[in-house]
Amino acid sequence: MRELKDLVRPSVWKMKPYSSARDEFKGTASVYIDANENPYNQPYNRYPDPMQWVLKDRIAAIKEVDRTAIFLGNGSDEPIDLLIRAFCTPGVDNILSIDPSYGMYQVAADTNDIEMRRIRLNDNFSLNPEALLQEADRQTKIVFLCSPNNPSGNNLARESIYTVLNRFEGLVVVDEAYIDFSSERSFTHELKRFPNLVVLQTLSKAWGAAAIRLGMAFAAPDIIAVLSKVKYPYNINQLTQEYALEVLSREETVKEQRLEILRQRTKVERTLLEMPFVKKVYPSDANFILVCVEDANKTYDYLVGQGVIVRNRTNQTMCEGCLRITIGTPEENTILLNALKSMPL
Ligand SMILES: *Cc1c(COP(=O)(O)O)cnc(C)c1O
Repeated sequence: MRELKDLVRPSVWKMKPYSSARDEFKGTASVYIDANENPYNQPYNRYPDPMQWVLKDRIAAIKEVDRTAIFLGNGSDEPIDLLIRAFCTPGVDNILSIDPSYGMYQVAADTNDIEMRRIRLNDNFSLNPEALLQEADRQTKIVFLCSPNNPSGNNLARESIYTVLNRFEGLVVVDEAYIDFSSERSFTHELKRFPNLVVLQTLSKAWGAAAIRLGMAFAAPDIIAVLSKVKYPYNINQLTQEYALEVLSREETVKEQRLEILRQRTKVERTLLEMPFVKKVYPSDANFILVCVEDANKTYDYLVGQGVIVRNRTNQTMCEGCLRITIGTPEENTILLNALKSMPL
């Protein structure tokens, strides 16, 4: 890895972060008249902890990482945007990502006027690390990988990710939004080995809390410090911090729901494969499956008419004829499968 100083945008490296009242006084007191808050409407009259330490300590224990190795954001979208904003100089630097993959990398790159180079996956959606590394140059600051990948559902081979981590000199982001559904071990366990690794996770999928917007980035403390420096001071609101703690205390229920989703995934896969217009069901390590059908647009429109909304991915790279179907409750899956069975051919 190059020196962090050479990777961070020079203006960001030099800047001093905003210092809030809650940052300056640490400890407890009986009278807080330092932040121009209203004394009434407790407890929501107070600004939340800008560093979210209580929540981070809980996440640190669950994920077995140091509290200083955690950044919390308004969904994963925030760390995706902040990584690009803090490390890439607009109009100068570039990032790499795989294709097809999650749409937010391109949106964040465009918003920040950063070129994104897409590296096409192989036909089975596996990664060719050599082809990816060839696209990198001195101005390439970040590689975005997604594993399990959206929309294909597969894990990228662990060895391929290691190759990129070992040979790319900038940051390697592994987006693990679906890791809790996967048979692979999280890369959070590799943080000590790779100073350039950033792992993204979220409460939006396996934890069932997309509404509260809580994304997590895990990385070496010096990378986390850069993100903390450029974030909005109070980026995680109090209600989200409180509800996240509640969700994280329900590990057992969440695990059962996850296992049910995995059982249902097998059932949906098998039933789909029996249908004459289904050409392929790609193997999935996530809570959705990519299905190739004879006529994706027709199938999509038919399902909409039946009140069932799936994601039509037919216009994405290598996804011609494909629908992306999220695994729902057993009842929802039955409605989907019955609707498809009754589709006129
Ligand atoms: C759903 C998803 C996310 C989650 O985004 P949030 O902003 O945390 O809700 C992140 N990455 C990928 C690849 C996803 O599919």
